[in-house]
Amino acid sequence: MLTKAVIISIGDEILYGQTLDTNAHWLSGELNKFGIYVKKRHTISDTRKEILCTLREAEEGVEIILITGGLGPTSDDLTKPCLLEYFDTYLERDENVLNHIIKIFTARGRQVTEVNKAQADIPVNGEAIPNVLGTAPGIWIERNEKVFISMPGVPYEMQRMMTDTILPRLSKKYVKRGLIHRMIRTIGIHESNLADMIRDWEAGLPKEIKLAYLPGKGSVRLRLTAKGEDTDHLQKLMQDEINKVLPTIEKFVYGFEDEEIEEAIGRILMERKMSLSIAESCTGGYLSHKITAVPGSSQWYKGGLIPYSNELKNEQLQVSLEMLKKHGAVSEPIVLTLAENIRKAFHTDIGVSVSGIAGPTGGTKEKPVGTVWIGYSEQDKRAAKKFLFTKDRMLNIQYTATAALDMIRINLAKN
Ligand code: ATP
Repeated sequence: MLTKAVIISIGDEILYGQTLDTNAHWLSGELNKFGIYVKKRHTISDTRKEILCTLREAEEGVEIILITGGLGPTSDDLTKPCLLEYFDTYLERDENVLNHIIKIFTARGRQVTEVNKAQADIPVNGEAIPNVLGTAPGIWIERNEKVFISMPGVPYEMQRMMTDTILPRLSKKYVKRGLIHRMIRTIGIHESNLADMIRDWEAGLPKEIKLAYLPGKGSVRLRLTAKGEDTDHLQKLMQDEINKVLPTIEKFVYGFEDEEIEEAIGRILMERKMSLSIAESCTGGYLSHKITAVPGSSQWYKGGLIPYSNELKNEQLQVSLEMLKKHGAVSEPIVLTLAENIRKAFHTDIGVSVSGIAGPTGGTKEKPVGTVWIGYSEQDKRAAKKFLFTKDRMLNIQYTATAALDMIRINLAKN
């Protein structure tokens, strides 16, 4: 039997559409990795009636009930009083938690008030879960072979609590049967073409393995999921199937599991001790943002320019005004020049450039909205490619960034 969980997100701000429920999304993903199946998610308001009603409904048919939000010290935070009522219990001060709260407040040079101290009060039938990043501890309560876990709404506090304490405890206590995922990450191929390529392999997958296509913006993830008692056997079965399919789709596979394309590029550039610079027009810095979000990217990414206007393309990267007039900024010669000149200006091994019509205006019959040229330059290699994306500005920016990263991958593969 699979271990089942339910997630309850508490907060009026979520229902008003002011806060996106990223907690439930993150929790689902993490529980899944541990082989715990999320049966249902509830998003509810901060009211006593709603919380009590949902607890009653939620605990049916699951072993784990995860609650986020409403744990703070103020009167609008109702989760703790509701837990007391639900379990017909009372609070007792936890000395360890109290010391932690005092330490945090003292370090910040602030007075500890009674309201703050009250955060160390934990239901007597439960125990505190340390919150190393904040003052509100989590609460762990067990009843009838079920565990109720209440956590703060603040995403980074909740995530740290889960990773450090809750997930290891849950997996030890409940996970006897495995649910395993593997991810193959592809780029530069449409979902339907990919499906065509691997049709025979898919049809021959063993019954324990299910395949899902998870398309992103310019990329498709293939998720293999296996369920069964013997997790070692499942791991081997999955790996065998991955080995079988890889030769067919190798050209499009950039990585596995959680790796994003920008991380994969960084990994390759670091291995080869190569550096990168970027001249990005239509993405306006988004490409550099993606790259600099990768820890350690300073080792391979030297920097970029955003020569958005023709004047800057000319002044900063010596693209001639005649050339711009003749071909237009969104053209092969321009992206080739931009890529080469940024590479030389920034003294990097690789220069990449993007120029496109993001929309919604600015398109012509010859160059409609969504037209993008991407350029690539290495000392003895240059390449440019034209793309036609969508009519949506933000999507075009995102597709362009992915395609530029893929362009780097493809050209590095040729080395
Ligand atoms: P606090 O001690 O700050 O009062 P809390 O446990 O009471 O913590 P909330 O007040 O419900 O939590 O939420 C704190 C902040 O965490 C909110 O302002 C919101 O930005 C964020 N947050 C709450 N719930 C979620 C959620 N489900 N997904 C993402 N962010 C959330």
